Amino acid sequence: MIELTEFQRKLAQMLPETELRFDEPLSRHTSFRIGGPAEAMAFPKTREELGNVLKVSALLDCKSAILGAGTNVLAPDDGLPGLTICLKDCLGGMKRVDGERIRLMAGVTMTRGAVFAAKEGLGGMEFAHGIPGTVGGGVYMNAGAYDGSLSQIVETVEVMDFSGNIRQLSNAQMDFSYRHSRLEETGEIVLSAVFHLTPKPTEQIQARMRELLQKRTASQPLDLPSAGSAFKRPVGGYAAALIDQAGLRGFRVGGAAISNKHAGFAVNLGGATAADVQSLLTQVSDWVYEASGIRLEPEVRIW
Ligand SMILES: Cc1cc2nc3c(=O)[nH]c(=O)nc-3n(C[C@H](O)[C@H](O)[C@H](O)COP(=O)(O)OP(=O)(O)OC[C@H]3O[C@@H](n4cnc5c(N)ncnc54)[C@H](O)[C@@H]3O)c2cc1C
Repeated sequence: MIELTEFQRKLAQMLPETELRFDEPLSRHTSFRIGGPAEAMAFPKTREELGNVLKVSALLDCKSAILGAGTNVLAPDDGLPGLTICLKDCLGGMKRVDGERIRLMAGVTMTRGAVFAAKEGLGGMEFAHGIPGTVGGGVYMNAGAYDGSLSQIVETVEVMDFSGNIRQLSNAQMDFSYRHSRLEETGEIVLSAVFHLTPKPTEQIQARMRELLQKRTASQPLDLPSAGSAFKRPVGGYAAALIDQAGLRGFRVGGAAISNKHAGFAVNLGGATAADVQSLLTQVSDWVYEASGIRLEPEVRIW
């Protein structure tokens, strides 16, 4: 039998009601399929349970990380000490608020949220259909595609801080910018968000979602593990075009490579480590800088 560490034993004692997993491979929870064991992973199903988990984490003075669907995270090969709190499929629920608004809980995927909005005859979220993350991760990242971004449709965000206090933030308070929100600085956790949408016939919304999905499938390497665009879009250019111009399509480090299908994606060809991906991103950024004078910054969160 595997022996629990002192920390793991205490967690199990203090959180008897919460689903906990110990030494859980992060590779099972990231779209890159990369990452060593999380010392402890918690799956709180309600905001009360999440508040309790945070309280215990503070009492035990342990490091905590928040994970959504893991579609924009490069998790370390050595794993993560402390507690990783996974919210995908945990904080769930979708509700129509009024004629133009829906509330989506943080653990709902953006694709499910967009499908729900379409069924309700509310347009404006079509661009998010096909982004594989959760609403929580999407709000944190200000996820976007095809000229849309969550900042354009989010009206309010309900957040919890690490002391368990809950507050509502307006769109303006979220300090949204390209792939950024205030949460990066404050560490607050998204519980839910209200989206202000526009009434539109369901068939029109669904047709647009199908069109965008076809574009994605045609241009992106969806058959290989990745975290989507590896780099943020630089001012005055596109990362994929700059990588292509530097001759780096297909460039490989260990099991990680720049996709042959889309030069903006770093993919796991099989057995890639976080070290492979990091080395790939650093080398690509350096080569592109040498070729174009433009410095690419990773979009993927390197933990
Ligand atoms: C094939 C593919 C295509 C993609 N296409 C796009 C695209 O078109 N546009 C785009 O913007 N992105 C895209 N992505 C990247 C990714 O899906 C988005 O960044 C998404 O918003 C991440 O959500 P997540 O739930 O997976 O977050 P995670 O990857 O789990 O986490 C990302 C960050 O958000 C934080 N976080 C997660 N949940 C919460 C929460 N509830 N509260 C506070 N912080 C939280 C985490 O701590 C972490 O720092 C793509 C990824 C893949 C694999």
